[in-house]
Formats: sequence, structure tokens, C-alpha cells
Amino acid sequence: MRAEATDKVEGFEPPALGEPYLLTPGPLTTASSVKQAMLRDWGSWDGDFRAMTGDLRNRLLALTGDKKGEFDCVPIQGSGTFAVEAMLGSFVPRDGKVLVLANGAYGLRAAQTMQYLGRAHTLIDKGDYLPPRGAEVAAALDADPAITHVIVIHCETSSGILNPVGEISEAVYAKGRKLLIDSMSAFGAIPLDVNEIRYEVMVSSANKCIEGVPGFGFVIARKSELEAAKGRSHSLSLDIHAQWAAMEKTGQWRFTPPTHVVAAFLQALKLHEAEGGVAGRGARYAKNRDVMVAGMRELGFETLLSEQWLSPIIVTFFCPAHEKFSFPRFYDLMKGKGFIIYPGKLTVVESFRVGCIGHMDEHVMRRVVEAAAASLNEMGVDTAAPPATAIAERAKLAA
Ligand SMILES: *Cc1c(COP(=O)(O)O)cnc(C)c1O
Repeated sequence: MRAEATDKVEGFEPPALGEPYLLTPGPLTTASSVKQAMLRDWGSWDGDFRAMTGDLRNRLLALTGDKKGEFDCVPIQGSGTFAVEAMLGSFVPRDGKVLVLANGAYGLRAAQTMQYLGRAHTLIDKGDYLPPRGAEVAAALDADPAITHVIVIHCETSSGILNPVGEISEAVYAKGRKLLIDSMSAFGAIPLDVNEIRYEVMVSSANKCIEGVPGFGFVIARKSELEAAKGRSHSLSLDIHAQWAAMEKTGQWRFTPPTHVVAAFLQALKLHEAEGGVAGRGARYAKNRDVMVAGMRELGFETLLSEQWLSPIIVTFFCPAHEKFSFPRFYDLMKGKGFIIYPGKLTVVESFRVGCIGHMDEHVMRRVVEAAAASLNEMGVDTAAPPATAIAERAKLAA
């Protein structure tokens, strides 16, 4: 394993020869020291690995600013969706009711999860990208006293919108309900300090802003909620209370842990700390976004979202109106230049997305813009301006 001291966060080594940068919101480009941390085997029951699990939980908890010891961190095997399902199944009582705030695929997935769980829920669906606002949440809670919990997506990765969780939290607690946050693609880069924003539980995963590899998710929950979660889960393997109780007692995961992923994640957490924690990581991503968006706008591309809602995580661009533009061809040309971009998820207009997260800095983002310019050129597209329908769609956001 390479020593941490040799990992300078200011020196962003490129991926291995022939490996493209992943401009995607996870899996993403990881540091070589993170990959190297996976080159040894660990016994899951061994004291060394148990110590690694303990270290991981403490380091994640520290990122929430919980100084009173009111929260605890519970990792759980699987991708992020497994962790969201574990959260909903464990923290929402069987006779509870959830208000799901959706403005994209991940909000809708939370509603679908409630359906699978067979527990009561209701949905505010804002469409592709409009933010749910505090006032409408308050009104929905007034209208339905049966609602016990609200779930909001911190950064809705399908458009890249940064939802106003502070305002929503205030509305939820003013009405005496509880807030759950899917901070999957935001945690580690955008503050979610328990002293600033009230919530009961948040969930994230290894392969987003902490820059680890995929393999587990984690919840950070108020201990009183963890205790109350006993016996609620619909699922053995996704029972957060049982996972927590076993970890507290033995230091072990209940079932085979992704040992190599955990080792990689610990290294990623050390790099995160060396970069200045949440503030440092967030600043680099914001710079990545600013440089990339400015360059893309110069080429004529336009963002779906206005500055107010633009996250430093991932940015949605409209596809150019030019008749010679084709997204599959653009994708292949970008890949040929070393950059994997991401198709869009809007239903009304054609779009694509460029991630700002992962082990890369503004110099890489400048090359992304150069690659986009060259790709347009090769397609014979002289301007990346979007169609009028896209601009009309965007005007709804301002209204
Ligand atoms: C990535 C992500 C998830 C989880 O997705 P998986 O593919 O299961 O890892 C959930 N919510 C949001 C907002 C995400 O960005």
C-alpha cells in the first residue's frame, strides 16, 4: 500500500494509461492510492478489520459536526439504493406515512421503494427539476395529519439540482414531523451539519463525494431513532437496527463485508481530510463546475438550471439544436478523447450531464471543454446553442 504522505491532493495524477476520466456521479474516478488500498485481503472477523470499520464510522460521523454524541453511523452492504431502502424500512414505522418530495429519478425511486415496502406514502412530484419549497411542504403537512416523515433528496442527481433542504427541514419540524435525507450525491462535499440543519437520518454511499469505490452505503442517524427502529424492518439483510446492534456488540458487519471496498474507502477518507474535509472538497468541486460551465457556455451550450440551483456535483446541459449534433456520436468522440460523460434524464427535452465530482481538478475540466469543442468540430456543429423549446422549458424555473 502506498503511504498516505505521498498523496498530495494538489497533484491530481491522471487515471492509468488508457483509462478515461469518469465524468459521472459515481462510480467515479478515484485516486490511485484508493485503488492500491485494495491490493490486500482482510479477514472480516479479524481485529484489524474491525478497527477499520470503527475508524470508518467515526470519521463519517465527524463530518456531520455531531459534538454531543447524539448520532451514530451504520454502514450497510450494497449500492446506495439498498441503503435508502434500509433507511425507509427501518426508520418509518409500519403504521407511519411518508411524504416523498420528488423532482427527478431518485425521488421517484424513494416513492417506489415505499410501494414495495407496502407502507403509506404520498408524493409531491415537481417534475424533472423544479425544487420542492418549504411553503408547499408545510401546506401538504397541514392537509394530511397522518404524515409522520418527509424524505427529500439533497442533490437530485438526475438534473443536478441542489434542493433547499434547510428550508424544508424548518417546515417539517415546525409541523412536528421528522425528516429523512437522501444525501447520496452531496454528503462529503456539501455541508449537512446537524447543528445547522435538523434531521433524523441521512443516507449516502461509498462511491460518491468521498471518492471511494462502490460496494456499500451508510446511514447516519439519531441514536434515539436507531433504538426505536428495532423490529421494524421488512428485511433481514437491510435491517439497520440489527446491523447497528451487531456492530456495537462485536465490531463486525452481520454478513460478509466488502473488505477491499472498506479499505479503499478509509484511504479515500484520509484524502478527504487532507483536502480540508467537506469545505475543501466542496471548494474543489465548485471550481470544477465553474471552469467547466464557463467553458461550455463559451461554446454555446446552456445549462438547464440557473446559478441558484446549480450544484457543484453534476450539471445538465441541453443538447445543441444543430441538425448535425447527435448525442451518441458526441459521447463516442468524448470517450475517444478520454472522457466518459453521462446521458440526460429529462423527459421533455434532450440533454446530457457532466459530473464535477471525482479525483480531478480544474485543469482536467479545462481539457473536458477542449474535448467538447473538438468533438463539435468533428461533427460539423458550429454552435452548441439549444433549441427554443429547451429555453421555453427553462423559463418555467424562473416563473
Ligand atoms: C447515486 C444515488 C443513489 C443510489 O444509487 P445506486 O445506483 O443504488 O448507488 C440514490 N440517490 C441519489 C440522489 C443518488 O445520486
